[in-house]
Amino acid sequence: MNVPIITVPQANPGAGYLALKPEIDAAVARALASGWYILGAEGRAFEAEFAAWTGTTCAVGCANGTDALALALRGLGIGPGQAVATVSHTAVATVAAIEMAGATPVLIDIDPLHYTMDPGELMAVLAHPPKGLPRISAIIVVHLYGQPADLESIQAMAAHFGIPVIEDCSQAHGAMIGERRVGGLTEVSCFSLYPTKNLGALGDGGVLATHDAALADRLGALRQYGWKTHYISDFVGVNSRLDEIQAAILRVKLSHLDAQNARRRAIAARYDAALGESGLAPARREGTTHVFHQYVLRHPERDAFQARLRASGIATGIHYPVPVHLQPAYRGRVAMGPSSCGATALAAGEVVSLPMYPQLEDAQVEQVCAALAD
Ligand SMILES: *Cc1c(COP(=O)(O)O)cnc(C)c1O
Repeated sequence: MNVPIITVPQANPGAGYLALKPEIDAAVARALASGWYILGAEGRAFEAEFAAWTGTTCAVGCANGTDALALALRGLGIGPGQAVATVSHTAVATVAAIEMAGATPVLIDIDPLHYTMDPGELMAVLAHPPKGLPRISAIIVVHLYGQPADLESIQAMAAHFGIPVIEDCSQAHGAMIGERRVGGLTEVSCFSLYPTKNLGALGDGGVLATHDAALADRLGALRQYGWKTHYISDFVGVNSRLDEIQAAILRVKLSHLDAQNARRRAIAARYDAALGESGLAPARREGTTHVFHQYVLRHPERDAFQARLRASGIATGIHYPVPVHLQPAYRGRVAMGPSSCGATALAAGEVVSLPMYPQLEDAQVEQVCAALAD
């Protein structure tokens, strides 16, 4: 069989490192030489810089995005005997984190145009929760693929029912609603810093952001055994810390993030143009800024579409091939809204992600565009 050589990968975290190698190497050397490797000056500086960048007052680093979500729930006092509404069309981490906190997930369908939580179905579920479900005590909104969800509608419902909203910004570092960045718009927000994310460490990492200093204190203690002072647990916590080397790397990466997001948007505009009138270009939510963690289109004959691109040396991805409610670990036991996540299942069968990372060269972008035009 003729295996085509991939000349345009779908993602490339190594290129992200090489593009900033001198700065990152210097930051790593500084962290190593400091002699302090966990929760020190680099971590505190990253937290301060990240809070300012999101337009919040407090940020708390942790070990990964899944932990950030579980910590946010625990920080808000949500756990066993309470339900949390989120979507099935997301990284499984969003739902896993709800169960890590001891709470019960209830999965809401998506608006098929933007792939984010359908506020209509959320309203139906809040007004008439599935039988036997514990009280819905929080909502985790996912800004998927780099595009903000319909936060305004969802926040209005949350306010009506008196429950908090947590933003999962793991795919949307820098996305905006109006002139405001996501991550500063609700009680607390969570970001994965996994290497392929828009803001990616060179290892695992996560961070929470909030305007609530008391909540930030609680989160800071929860991530380290419930310590407010060393060796004394005020409550039961976990170990979920961001290390100094990753924090030093993230400070460098954060300083380039706006430019890199602009590059992602420019690549997306090229893809839009190449798709022309086909109707395949992804929809943008009005009044928001998409940061294209992924450039996702839908194709009814996805396998053939991917094979054609692969034959031209272009790799594609699927985010995500199986929705959470249909995965073996969750199938048949997770609560859902009245539509049983029908739009989610349809999307999962058709979505395909084109190559997308800021270091894509113009020639590679043109190679993708030529294949698309074909
Ligand atoms: C990546 C991701 C997570 C999980 O992050 P980890 O750092 O891998 O734990 C959570 N939610 C979404 C939407 C993600 O894309």
